Parts: sequence; C-alpha cells; structure tokens
Amino acid sequence: MSQTTTILAGDCTTRFETATTSDERIHRGRVVVLAKPDRTVLVHDRAGYQPVAWLTRPDSLTVEADDDGFAVTARDGDQRLSVRSHDAGEVVERPISAAGVPVGECPDPDCRAALVRAGGDVVCLGCGDAYGLPPGATVHDDDTCDDCGLPTMTVARGEKLRLCVDYACESLTEAVRGVLDRRFDCPDCGRDLRVREHRGRAFLGCDGYPDCETAFSVPSGTFAGECACGLPRFETATGVRCLDGTCERDRPAEPNVGP
Ligand SMILES: [Zn+2]
Ligand SMILES: [Zn+2]
Ligand SMILES: [Zn+2]
Ligand SMILES: [Zn+2]
Repeated sequence: MSQTTTILAGDCTTRFETATTSDERIHRGRVVVLAKPDRTVLVHDRAGYQPVAWLTRPDSLTVEADDDGFAVTARDGDQRLSVRSHDAGEVVERPISAAGVPVGECPDPDCRAALVRAGGDVVCLGCGDAYGLPPGATVHDDDTCDDCGLPTMTVARGEKLRLCVDYACESLTEAVRGVLDRRFDCPDCGRDLRVREHRGRAFLGCDGYPDCETAFSVPSGTFAGECACGLPRFETATGVRCLDGTCERDRPAEPNVGP
C-alpha cells in the first residue's frame, strides 16, 4: 500500500492550455515537477510557494523519461498541462504518504513506525494499517490501549467515552449502549429507545420497531438537560440541540413546579 511520487528537475518548457478559450501560457526555466499518486502535478520555479503551473487530480497523467529527457502530460477536461525537458534532467521516485499530526507509535513489534492522524483516520506510516475515527473523536498521543497498544480517543455520545481507536478492539457501539440504551422513551409511542448499529454507526431506535420506526442518530456531544419534547439535549461543537434533529420544540424543558 506504499505509494510513490515522481520528482523531475531540469530546463523545461511548461505549457498550460485551455481548449475552449484557446488560452495558452508558456513558461521556460529550470523547474522542479512533482507528480503525486493522485495524479496532481505541480511545476515549481525558484521562488514562493505557488507553482508556475499545476493541475489538481487530472483525468489522466503520463510521465515519460529516457536518457535524453522527460515529458509530463496531464489532461483534465479541456485543460492540458505539459512539461518537456530540454536536457536529460533528473527523475527520481520516492515513497510518499499522507502527513498528519503524530499520535504515537505502531504497536506491531515488527513495525514500530509513527502513527499519524490524517483526515478521518489514524494511519501507520510503516505498515499502512489504518483505523477510521468516528465523528468528533479526540485522539490522545499520551495514552495507549491496555489491550493492543494503539492510542486511545475520547468520543462524546451523551457522556465522554475513552476508547481504543481500533473499533475491532473496543466497540464504540457497545460503549454507547452502556450510556444510552433504554435510557429515554420514544416520543411517539413511549417504548424504550434502544441503541442499534447501522454500517458501524450507533443510533437510537424505538424498541417497537417495526411497528414504530422512530429513530435518531446519536449527536457528537455531551448531555445538556432535557428538551421541551422530553428527549435529551446535547452540547455539540455547533451548539446545543435536541436528540431529534428536526424537533420543533427544541428548547430547554420548563422546570417542574411542585404543587
Ligand atoms: Zn505499523
Ligand atoms: Zn486496543
Ligand atoms: Zn416508538
Ligand atoms: Zn426536542
């Protein structure tokens, strides 16, 4: 699963053409060309961070190189980027990976490479093992799972839950079950709301299913009191909301006034 990037350097003519507008931009100079595994091509000259020319994830990319030089051609819709060297230049291939925030070390004794959080995953830069994170997860770089040695994470689903990042090691659904199963009543029929799982995601569904099809996804957040509708409210990254994302009475319940 290791990927490589091609780095090309030399005295080149770079041509960027847009067919529909007959627009053509030509640059010549000693440049460095980066061709990434996702086909993105960047042509850099000596100054600044911005490429002289580039195409992000084009439809096609070809790289040709021999003793006389190299040619890179990328096409995306009506755009075409070509780089042709005027000398032999240099062409090298190097391994490349996602780069992310370091969160520890691979527990595999044969690997021990760095683990990083990149996008929605914790990824090992050595063996390539990847662990998908649930929404709203905070990964701890200073705490590892007692069972497998991977980093732990905190996920809020009503309460804050600390778990292994590997779902196969410690199931988030099981943890959510401990917090939310049978804790609240279905607003439509009064039966218990049960924790169920769909495609690896925990949700709350009525115990009366299929007679009652009421179901709610579990927000990423901690309990923030009761809603006027009777369901719990959650403090999320974007504010306080009812468990029912479509609740029309989404506001704190009136305090009970005794007789
Ligand atoms: Zn590894
Ligand atoms: Zn674990
Ligand atoms: Zn129900
Ligand atoms: Zn509500």
